[in-house]
Order: sequence, then structure tokens, then C-alpha cells
Amino acid sequence: MTKEEIRGVAQDLGFALCGFAQAGPAPHAEALGAWLDDGRQATMEWMRRTEEDRRDPRRVLAGAESVIVLATNYLRDGTPATGTGRIARYAWGDDYHEVIAPRLETLAARLAQAGGRQRCFVDSGPVLERDWAAACGVSWHGKSTMGIHPELGTWFFLSIVLTTLEFTPDPPLPDRCGRCTRCLDACPTQAITAPYQLDARRCLSFLTIENKGPIPEEFREAMGDRIFGCDDCLDACPWNRFARSSRDAALQSRADLLAKPLREFLALDERQFKDLFRNSPILRAKRRGFLRNVCVALGNVGTTDDLPALQKAAQDSEPLIREHAAWSIDRISARQNLSPRPAAEATAAPLA
Ligand code: SF4
Ligand code: SF4
Repeated sequence: MTKEEIRGVAQDLGFALCGFAQAGPAPHAEALGAWLDDGRQATMEWMRRTEEDRRDPRRVLAGAESVIVLATNYLRDGTPATGTGRIARYAWGDDYHEVIAPRLETLAARLAQAGGRQRCFVDSGPVLERDWAAACGVSWHGKSTMGIHPELGTWFFLSIVLTTLEFTPDPPLPDRCGRCTRCLDACPTQAITAPYQLDARRCLSFLTIENKGPIPEEFREAMGDRIFGCDDCLDACPWNRFARSSRDAALQSRADLLAKPLREFLALDERQFKDLFRNSPILRAKRRGFLRNVCVALGNVGTTDDLPALQKAAQDSEPLIREHAAWSIDRISARQNLSPRPAAEATAAPLA
């Protein structure tokens, strides 16, 4: 099977880009080690556990000869309604893992017919997707640490097929960030500590999604009305002016999620949360993490109309939600010059 035949199959499956790299030590293997040593992966300990595999995909698939990198355009039309919280664009629709994984399996089946053994990963395995994408010209590694393609901008999902089939590697793209620093300037928490350096401990994407504990107080105000993820460094990137919306029907926005007033999320019990976010990436934060985020957002943008919902949340069975609701009530009260909560109430919701 030739590369062009595989690219044709990939295009038919909905992939926007398909590149080929030679399997071997990952180009940024050493940088990964330094990043981990510095603790900038925050609590994502699985990255340390899988470091050796991430350094070389031949540990993940014995006999791997090639890394096939696929990009899926996820740019969606529309914006969330006013008064709702901001959700990162990638989460406006169904969970991309569910959409992309079967497509990868179809591609892998075609490669198997050509005699290959394959393993597929959708942003879920011990593979440095962005590194391999940069190695084979699917994107270049931007100063934001995100991949950029001249036509797709930054709005694409990466996925990987490791194969024992051998292909001529594709050349990398030149770095076209030039003198631009817009992503660094736009970051509300200075999480991009230097060009090409991200400290996950400061990043709102990490803090609102992967982080299972409290949002550190120093970052709560910077969250603004964000309730799941952050796109500021992507929105700022000038290469996105060339990006075109995806026509992929499986990746369109779910209007029901984007039109909900913030305080209505606080009324969701566990079952209702799972029903509302069925097949959504937001499930990853779980109810406790998502309602924690909603409380912080209301603390930043809410009004006295939100206080009854927050007071109910301050009695939630989940300590994490109680503590963030109490913080939010204090913030709104201070903003509206209302009396602060009584001390007994303020201490009635300790974080477990
Ligand atoms: S996602 Fe947001 S917080 Fe994280 S680096 Fe980008 S702009 Fe900064
Ligand atoms: S905003 Fe500028 S510096 Fe940052 S990734 Fe985009 S082009 Fe590169």
C-alpha cells in the first residue's frame, strides 16, 4: 500500500491531514524528561509512569517502523450564548475519542490487509502526538506548545497509527511563529512561561479539566467565565485566520450544552449531569470538578440572582463544590456590597 493510497483512505474517513514519520526516539524525548523533572506536568502522574514509552514508540509496538499522524479539523461555527460559561471549542460537540477511534481502526484494518501490525491512539496513549506531527510536517510546534498548520490553524485533533509497515518519512514544516508572541501575551495565567514552554500547574485547561482538587485561589479570578478548558492562546494565534470550519457532521456543536445559563448547572445531580453530558468530553471533569468550575465562574461574573443556586451548592454533599460555592458567594457579596456570610457559615464547608 502506498502513502498516497493511505492518504486517500484517510481523507475518505474524514481526516484532514495524514503524515508519515519514521519510528524511533521521539524528537523531544530529552525535553520531555526535563519537563517532567521540573514537575510541570502537575498532577498528571501518568506522564511520568509512561515516560519511557513516550520516548520511543517502538516500546509501544514491537517492530514499529512508522508513525502515521492524522489530523481532524474540529473548528465549529457559532459561539456560546451570552450568560453561559465559556467552554473550550474542542468540547462543544461529542467526545472526539468516540468519533475518531473507529476511523483509525478502519485505517488500521486496511494496513493489516497490506501485512502490517498496528496500534491506534486518539490522544490517549503513551505517544507524543505533537512531537510526531511536527516530525512529519502535519504541523509545526508553536510557541504556545500547540501544533499549527498553515491551513487548519490550531483547531485540529491529532491521532496516531503505529505500524510495522515502512514508509518514506515526510519532511517537517518550518517554524512560522517568527517574532509573534501573541499566545504568550494572551495567556491569562502566564502558563506559557517562555516560548515553547508550558507549565501545566498554571494552565486553565489543566486546572479546569484534569485537576481533581481545588482551583488554587491565585488562579480563580483569571478563570473569568471559563467552565471547561481555555482557548485563549489558540484564539490569539494569527494562523487561525486561515482556518475553515469543519463540515464533519459527527463533530458539530451541541446547542443544548452551549445555551444553558451558568447557575442551572448547579442544579444537576449526578444522574442529571451524566445524562446532560452523555458522549461529551465534559464528563471527564466529573460533576464535582465541573460544578467547582461553575462556582468559580459565577464568583467572577455572577450577580445576586445567582446567590440562591450558590447557597444550595454550598450545602452540596461534595466538599469540593461546597468550598467553591462559598468562595463564589463571598465574591458576589463583596461585589454587590452585601454583608459577607456569617463566620460560622463560612467555615461550615471545609474542603475534605
Ligand atoms: S490554555 Fe489558557 S491558560 Fe493554558 S496556556 Fe493557553 S491561554 Fe494559558
Ligand atoms: S500566537 Fe504567534 S507565537 Fe503563538 S503559536 Fe501562534 S504564531 Fe506562534
